[in-house]
Amino acid sequence: MKIERTEIEGYEEVVTCEDPESGLRSIIAIHDRTLGPALGGLRMWPYGSWDDAKFDVLRLSKGMTYKSAVADTGLGGGKSVIIGNPKTEKTEALFRAMGKFVDSLGGRYITAEDVGTAVSDMVFVREETKYVTGLPLDMGSSGDPSPYTALGTFVGIRACLGEYFGSEDFEGRTVALQGCGHVGMFLADYLHEVGAKLFVADISPDKAKAIADKTGAEIVDPNEIMFLDVDVFAPCALGAIVNDETLDKFHCKIIAGGANNVLLREEHGQRLKETGILYAPDYVINAGGIINVSIEVEGAYDAERSRKKVENIYHAMKRVFEIAKDQNIPT
Ligand code: NAD
Repeated sequence: MKIERTEIEGYEEVVTCEDPESGLRSIIAIHDRTLGPALGGLRMWPYGSWDDAKFDVLRLSKGMTYKSAVADTGLGGGKSVIIGNPKTEKTEALFRAMGKFVDSLGGRYITAEDVGTAVSDMVFVREETKYVTGLPLDMGSSGDPSPYTALGTFVGIRACLGEYFGSEDFEGRTVALQGCGHVGMFLADYLHEVGAKLFVADISPDKAKAIADKTGAEIVDPNEIMFLDVDVFAPCALGAIVNDETLDKFHCKIIAGGANNVLLREEHGQRLKETGILYAPDYVINAGGIINVSIEVEGAYDAERSRKKVENIYHAMKRVFEIAKDQNIPT
């Protein structure tokens, strides 16, 4: 296993690992540990190059610092990525090698599941390191963080409706959901339960169909979902989707979803403000998962305590709107 450190300005530690035996090619980025150990998920994605993987992990780890700071989790920001196809390249050896890599940082970085990885993969990681969270509930851990991320996103969207329309009622409101994975699936349930009309899209048609069958959602082409004329566009897939190419094409009133790094660059937040679209900062609205995991890191895991803290995202969103208005700055 070859582990190499790279100096990157603004980051505490960026470490690359190559392990030919297991096929592991991974980067761990620790952005900031001022508030505690750096915690953030492990993403597995078929990145085209090391540079693409590095671009992603740097942005994601910084987002985790912001997210944990706002959510008051007592944690710092970090993230890791594995270069590989999660559909075809997952093995026990790969995740055990990842466990050794995480362990080599001595607890400065704690991992969890993210896009392309699942709780079951974390069980292999746990074989090699104790610095992993979000393991199955029957192991005394906090389980899949996604339902909590979805809950936080749901209460955050409620705050957005209140801010934009002066009413938090979901009945008859239209929501376009991009990405029907772990977070999207639970979010769809919450939205359906309160009477929202759903449009859904996923590059895996089965996943969109599963939500449609359950909620009556209308399935939309993944190339069109972002630009529907709806009340809320809820990104729950990958990031950087608000960018120079997409910005003028949105017809929604609110952008609020579970995805990380929704804005390609900070200036895109300013431009959304100018177009009158209300944007829920990703690292505020999608903090439910990290809040849930932080309850586990604190001590004995308590699902009810976690739920209460996640519901505070509603108030955090309201506070963001207040500050943005007072200072006339983008959310
Ligand atoms: P996931 O892999 O389970 O789901 C993502 C889904 O998006 C997949 O079904 C995938 O097929 C789909 N997708 C990818 N590209 C798409 C496209 N262009 N159009 C439509 N669908 C597309 O991942 P997840 O855990 O649900 O996470 C979703 C997002 O939420 C990610 O950005 C993740 O970083 C963020 N997030 C997740 C959590 C969590 O608790 N899981 C916490 C915070 C943030």
